[in-house]
Amino acid sequence: MIKPGTDNGWPGVIRKYASFLPVNATTPVVTLLEGNTPLIPVPRFVAAIGGNFDLRLKYEAMNPTCSFKDRGMTMAITNAVARGARTVVCASTGNTSASAAAYSARAGLHCVVLLPEGKIAHGKLSQALLYGATTVSVQGNFDDALRIVRELGETGLVEVVNSINPVRIEGQKTAAFEICDVLGDAPDYHFLPVGNAGNITAYWRGFREYRDAGLSRRVPRMMGWQALGADPIVQGHAIAHPETVATAIRIGNPASWSGAVEAARDSGGQIRSVSDEEILHAYKLLARTEGVMVEPACAAPLAGLIRCVREGEIPAGSVITATMTGHGLKDPDTAIRVSGFTPKVVAATREAVLGVLDL
Ligand SMILES: *Cc1c(COP(=O)(O)O)cnc(C)c1O
Repeated sequence: MIKPGTDNGWPGVIRKYASFLPVNATTPVVTLLEGNTPLIPVPRFVAAIGGNFDLRLKYEAMNPTCSFKDRGMTMAITNAVARGARTVVCASTGNTSASAAAYSARAGLHCVVLLPEGKIAHGKLSQALLYGATTVSVQGNFDDALRIVRELGETGLVEVVNSINPVRIEGQKTAAFEICDVLGDAPDYHFLPVGNAGNITAYWRGFREYRDAGLSRRVPRMMGWQALGADPIVQGHAIAHPETVATAIRIGNPASWSGAVEAARDSGGQIRSVSDEEILHAYKLLARTEGVMVEPACAAPLAGLIRCVREGEIPAGSVITATMTGHGLKDPDTAIRVSGFTPKVVAATREAVLGVLDL
C-alpha cells in the first residue's frame, strides 16, 4: 500500500538540520525538499588522472533547480516570508536567479533577478523565465548587478537574497554536514569552485560546526579554485572585466572574499586558479570516464586536482570530496561545442547506420 506522505523520508535541509540553523519549531519553511544529494565515487576519473586516492563528488546538480543554490535559497525565502517581504531581488550569474525564482514561486513572492547581459547559460535563463521572475538584463557584469542589488536593498522595498544575505550561507553549510554523515567523518581535502566565495565560506563553517558538535573528528583542507581571468583572490585585487568560459564563477570582486581567504588559511588549504583550457579538459574527461555531466564551473576544482596530482601534492590514500555545484544541462551550448562530435546523418536503413559505425 502506498503511504501518504509529503517528504519521501527527506524533509529538506532546514528541517533535517534545524538545530544548526536560525529557525525555530514554528518557522513556516519554504522548501522544495532540496539536499540529500549523492556523493558519487569516481574511480575511473581518478585512474585517468593518475591519482591514488578516494574521490567522491558531491553532486549538487540533483537539487530541485539543479544547483547547490537551493540550500541557501530555502533559508533566504523562508526568512523573507517570515519577515513579511513581498518582493525579493538578486543579482546572478544564473543559478541564484533560477533558485530565487523557483522558491519565490513556491512561496507566492514576486521575484526580480538582475543578470549580466548576454553571459547567462541558456538553461539558467530558461528557468528564471519559466518560474515567472521579472528578469532584467543589466548592461554590465555580475559585479555591476550586485552593486545595484545592494542599492535596491537599501530602499527597504525589497529583500536581497544574494549570499550577502547571511542566511544563504547558513543554508549552504548543510552540504558539509551531509558529506560527514555519509563518510562518517570529514574528508582530508575538500575541493570546490570559487566565484562570489559564499560556498567555500559556508562549507568551512559547516565542517567546523560539525566537528565542534562532536559529529565529526576533523576538518578538511579547503581547496578553492577560481578561473584564470576571473581570479581576484589569487591576484590579490578586484578584476574589472572578469572573463572565463565558466560563467558561474565569472566574478571580479567576490562578496565573501575574506571568508574564502580565512577558509584556505585556517584549514591549511589553498585558493588557486586554472585556465579555461584546463577547465574544459576536466569537464570533458569527467563526462567521458564517469558519465557525470556538470557545468564548466564545477570542472575548475577537478582541473585543480589534476594539477595537484601532477605536482605530487596529494598523499596516497587521501579521502577527497569535491562539490559539483551545478548540472551540465544548465549550459548545453558549451557541452555541444566542447564535445567535438556532431550527429552523423544517414539514410533510414540498417546498411547506412552500419556504414558509419566502427564495429
Ligand atoms: C554560484 C555558483 C558557483 C560559485 O559559488 P560561490 O558561492 O559564488 O563561490 C560555482 N558553480 C556554480 C555552478 C554556481 O552556480
